[in-house]
Amino acid sequence: MIIDTHCHLQFKGQDADREKIIERCRVRGIILNLVGTQKDTSKKAVLLARENSDMYASIGTHPNHLFPTYIDEEESQFMSREEDFDEVYYEEIYNIAPEKIIGIGECGLDLFHLPPDVPRETVLDKQKKVFKKQVAFAIRHEVPLIIHVRDAHEHMIELLKTIELPKQRGTIHCYTGNWQYAQEYLKLGFYLGFTGVITFPAKKTNPAQQESLWEVIRNMPENKILVETDAPYLAPQKYRGERCEPWMTEECVAKIAELRDKDAKEMEEIIFANSKQLFHKIK
Ligand SMILES: [Zn+2]
Repeated sequence: MIIDTHCHLQFKGQDADREKIIERCRVRGIILNLVGTQKDTSKKAVLLARENSDMYASIGTHPNHLFPTYIDEEESQFMSREEDFDEVYYEEIYNIAPEKIIGIGECGLDLFHLPPDVPRETVLDKQKKVFKKQVAFAIRHEVPLIIHVRDAHEHMIELLKTIELPKQRGTIHCYTGNWQYAQEYLKLGFYLGFTGVITFPAKKTNPAQQESLWEVIRNMPENKILVETDAPYLAPQKYRGERCEPWMTEECVAKIAELRDKDAKEMEEIIFANSKQLFHKIK
């Protein structure tokens, strides 16, 4: 069994054929964690999880939504809205289905997508402030954090070392950093989530980058590895160019097994046990 510990099946781009995607996941027995990024996508995640026994939800405010920023990536272009982590609102949606809400996030720090007219320090300060609010919320509800970090590992590690953390800690989602940062997160008790990015070939112009990520996977303690898709983004190599769907986590499991020279089925069982260990509400 596989748990896709981070996907966004509730996003609009999947409205037209969501039922078909769900069916493709269901025949493979995949369990999903639908991760919110702001108020409406968090609420939608909760509602969808409430209706489906193989889905769970995480609620939170993504750092890219704290200032209006134009996001232009391979898979999507959009103008992010200005939001804050509104505790009253999130408490309300938490109470819709508390047994289905397994994490808080995605929350974190992102210094890659910067709003054009705001100083970097101002952005970072606000991101830290909003992150801390979500940590407090996670502690209150005894659930782990789903953490997004882009171009900001040093800031995040320093922050995590100085604040009280939920005892369940959480996961660093879509981990693509080096082994040095990975060790810091592991020391703090976090899991690392790996997406289809690990299946990409090393770039001819910069092979060291991908080699370094594979080194992390080879070195990882077995009991801290999670898999995720971040669907609809980041389709694994085999499906690159297509919209990513949560069942493609199979590719991540296969790559991890290959890198660690382990049987894929055995690797799948270990990762499944890890996911259930962290997300203790999953039945
Ligand atoms: Zn995500």
